[in-house]
Amino acid sequence: MSQFKLLIDRLTDRPQRFDYEAPPEWWTHRAGEDDRPGEGEIDRPFRFELTARRLGEDVLVEGSLEGGLSAECSRCTRRYAHALRDTFRLVLEPYGEDLRGSARAHDSIDPEGDRALAVNGMCLGDDLEAGWFRGPVIFLDDFFAEVVATAMPIQPLCDEECPGLCPHCGMERGMGRASGAESGRRDGQATEQTAAVCRCTDERVESPFAVLANWKGKSESESNAGKASGKTGGRTASGAGSRKRS
Ligand SMILES: [Zn+2]
Ligand SMILES: [Zn+2]
Repeated sequence: MSQFKLLIDRLTDRPQRFDYEAPPEWWTHRAGEDDRPGEGEIDRPFRFELTARRLGEDVLVEGSLEGGLSAECSRCTRRYAHALRDTFRLVLEPYGEDLRGSARAHDSIDPEGDRALAVNGMCLGDDLEAGWFRGPVIFLDDFFAEVVATAMPIQPLCDEECPGLCPHCGMERGMGRASGAESGRRDGQATEQTAAVCRCTDERVESPFAVLANWKGKSESESNAGKASGKTGGRTASGAGSRKRS
């Protein structure tokens, strides 16, 4: 079951490079029902690149995680591709039976830690930066899973600047989203299909981008209405509404 092996007794004080790749199923199998990866769907393998070396008796493992998932934005609820990136640094001390019962081991190695030592040849301390190893081989599955869990977004955002949903109409705020604005202008049908973009004119919106988008949309719909034959010109509610207000 354990896939990610590191042969401790082959390490020297010169850093050696190791690459591991875990398929999406590796994570979905591990994550229990309570521990689903957010609303996200893993869409590519996780890559762990690390170097490992001896630091005297200890073992130093440094590396990075890369992955990606399809996440749901916590502000506008859109799905977007979320890049997972993180780095880690772990120092493992040799675990000796004499440690058992000492004050230090008593604090950190509980029954779960004992089990981890038996299964993985290593166990983690209170954080992801220190732990103990026993034996010539360690398995990094559980450690990698902790790294992934830590990197998972708690409040995914499609964009740091995501304006979120309009508090008035509950739809996605416009902010000049290219696709919506483009197709919305073409004809009435397209406007209905992409109607999930807020068209409220709200003076309380203070973002200069929102103001700009409103102004831009207004002048463009005016010039469109001028060009159109009058058949569709007056029918888009947004164009009529915003012109009335100005
Ligand atoms: Zn968003
Ligand atoms: Zn709105």
